[in-house]
Amino acid sequence: MDDLQSKDKQHIWHPFTPLTGGTEPVLIESASGVYLYTAEGKKIIDAVSSWWVNLHGHSNPIIGEAIAQQAKKLEHVIFAGFTHEPAIRLAENLLTILPANQSKVFFSDNGSTAVEVALKMAIQYWKNQGIEKKKIIAIEGAYHGDTFGSMSVGDRGIFTEPFFPFLFEVDFIPFPTKNNRQHVIQRFTELVQTGEVAAFIFEPLVQAAAGMRMYPAALLNELMKIAKDNHVVCIADEVFTGFGRTGKLFACDHLELKPDVMALSKGITGGAMPLGVTTCSTDILRPFQSDNFLKTFFHGHSYTANPLACAAANASFGILMTDECARNIARVSRQHERFMISLQQHPAIDDVRVLGTILAIELKTPENTSYENNLRKKIYPYFLERGILLRPLGNVMYILPPYVITDDELSHVYSAIEKFLQEL
Ligand code: PMP
Repeated sequence: MDDLQSKDKQHIWHPFTPLTGGTEPVLIESASGVYLYTAEGKKIIDAVSSWWVNLHGHSNPIIGEAIAQQAKKLEHVIFAGFTHEPAIRLAENLLTILPANQSKVFFSDNGSTAVEVALKMAIQYWKNQGIEKKKIIAIEGAYHGDTFGSMSVGDRGIFTEPFFPFLFEVDFIPFPTKNNRQHVIQRFTELVQTGEVAAFIFEPLVQAAAGMRMYPAALLNELMKIAKDNHVVCIADEVFTGFGRTGKLFACDHLELKPDVMALSKGITGGAMPLGVTTCSTDILRPFQSDNFLKTFFHGHSYTANPLACAAANASFGILMTDECARNIARVSRQHERFMISLQQHPAIDDVRVLGTILAIELKTPENTSYENNLRKKIYPYFLERGILLRPLGNVMYILPPYVITDDELSHVYSAIEKFLQEL
């Protein structure tokens, strides 16, 4: 085991991890349900669903079996000029639960590429019609991924700083708060009325990486209405919020208006395989439906619609559609709300918020409230030592567990949080 860890240190560059001064990665040998098991036999509750991907528990036997069966039949095939049953079935499944205006499914292989595809679709939608629109609007604090397009529409912060000169220009509207509604709407209206805006991209209702910051559906509806009135393509990045996270199947289900384009990933396979999907309305398709070859959407990844990933996604979809899963989502949401109420007056807490299965606790801090906040250095090891994986975003602690977490397991996590707050 030690040997493996030293080989890891020697050969592997881990994501979002400093190469020096960081902590040793924990060697995980197996996982089941909400638990990760270390090589030493220690068990850790995965309270963050492994970077927000896991829905139905680790090593889910139904998903595992679907992948195994698929692997014996067709592991992969080029997706240009060829197709296969798992992808067709998945597209059909997704279109039964997505907002009713979504009509086509484009596959890729992760959240960032699902966003890249969404942006490129929106830009080419105008270009194919001979309409010049060069601007994109996003929301301050946004995180849409780590590729150049998705970084460009993301916050200009520590994650993207080395690349500032290489990111395309984006207009950012302020993050909506209780006090700036009018200002946000006015700024947004001014921007879209220039007629130069191709697309508005947003994380619906919750900006995840920015610290699980939440904003109301009514305001997003208003922005989308203004966007649509001014012929701006609305892109909902549901990479994080999709597949039940916010209490409904999609965050857009909390809205009256429907986005034109949606980016999906993470929970789509239940957390078992990488897969990205971008969907769009019939209106978006129209300028691409042409005999002119140059109007083709020239985008495709080698592993587009990988059959193993699609099989996992179909199995996960089956579980997501069960009454039991819906009951679990509702149960976790209720427990979170109860816990939130119990914490509201806590002297160490600035804000506590819940949206569906997401609970976020923003701690008071004398420092600024960014990702680098020193509290994260305290929180992460504190919980890990107690067998709980909780990876804070700066001074924001959050939990968003797999939906199968039991009430007892949730209580165990809540108690550990209460104890931590007492000891602060
Ligand atoms: N969009 C959102 C809203 C996300 O939270 C993330 C990942 N955290 C991404 C896009 C990028 O997804 P991926 O990490 O799979 O590239």
